[in-house]
Amino acid sequence: MAQKVKKIEVDRELCIGAASCIGVAPEAWELDEENIAILKKSWTDLDDDILIASAESCPTKAIFVYGENDEQIFP
Ligand code: SF4
Repeated sequence: MAQKVKKIEVDRELCIGAASCIGVAPEAWELDEENIAILKKSWTDLDDDILIASAESCPTKAIFVYGENDEQIFP
């Protein structure tokens, strides 16, 4: 099945560096020098389910997931 998730963004104001996203998908996420989540280049290799689960795990809903035509998948 083709990848449905096309774009993922982090709201840097909302991210508190809780690292739940990294716990769920360490291949997709890391923290930058300001303790804010950033995507690794390898995120495109991951299944949509795992990517969405990592967004769902965020306690502040800082991760926004988009599909085809910028349709918002989560939250
Ligand atoms: S789970 Fe949310 S708050 Fe925690 S590091 Fe990831 S994006 Fe930031």
